[in-house]
Amino acid sequence: MNMINARDLYKDFGKLAVLRGVSLEVGQGEVVAVIGPSGSGKSTLLRCLNRLESIDRGTIEIAGETLAASGSAGQSHYAADADIRRICRKMGMVFQQFNLFPHLTVLENVIEAPLTVKGLKPEQIIPAAKELLCKVGLWDKRDSYPSRLSGGQKQRVAIARALAMQPAIMLFDEPTSALDPELTGEVLRAMRQLAREHMTMVIVTHEMAFAREVAQRVVFMDRGEIIEAGLPEDIFSRPAHPRTQAFLAYQG
Ligand code: ADP
Ligand code: MG
Repeated sequence: MNMINARDLYKDFGKLAVLRGVSLEVGQGEVVAVIGPSGSGKSTLLRCLNRLESIDRGTIEIAGETLAASGSAGQSHYAADADIRRICRKMGMVFQQFNLFPHLTVLENVIEAPLTVKGLKPEQIIPAAKELLCKVGLWDKRDSYPSRLSGGQKQRVAIARALAMQPAIMLFDEPTSALDPELTGEVLRAMRQLAREHMTMVIVTHEMAFAREVAQRVVFMDRGEIIEAGLPEDIFSRPAHPRTQAFLAYQG
């Protein structure tokens, strides 16, 4: 069973067609990197997968459950609200801009969703939160506020926070783009560790070397379409499509 089955997604913002028939399948434990120029629809694709944006047309199945399906009139219909929430909880997301709660400490950020969404008690979650913060190397920062952390530390907290909900899938939207180069390594390390543990991941990234190393499949998007997808060595060494070739040449 695929963890993500997205078929023929269409999404307009007003007159702008941002997704134009995008299909994406992600198997269990698979790591897929999505690359492509700015404005090509990469963030919108991720945001549609977890219902931060709605699709106009197409079908989205997450771990065998239908989030949205095309009706007979072409328009997509979503599952009931309670089902949407439950299905989307299977996905954790990490954003470029961290999105930590500034008024909560590192530990409070990590336990916030399990506390409020799952209704668990702190003593039920703190052992797992400790394990996650140790894993990303930030247990000693548990009582710090985000403003006292470096960008790399903030992003590692954001990863731990997403993992605290025990998602089956992790979506990353350019998690290192807001970081100084010397801080990207520590975030990529945490992601590499997740990949080793066979977390299913979709990673939008500009880090081509990382995508090549960690992804089992690379998807190149341009102007709302998937132009080319395949094994990292094929996409990076032998891109078939002129637009992929041009994009990769421009990346240096
Ligand atoms: P990428 O992540 O590949 O840079 P995006 O998915 O962010 O691309 O954006 C694709 C296009 O959709 C861009 O032209 C962007 O300006 C536009 N867009 C994204 N979000 C919105 C929105 N909420 N309202 C209107 N236009 C948007
Ligand atoms: Mg984006």
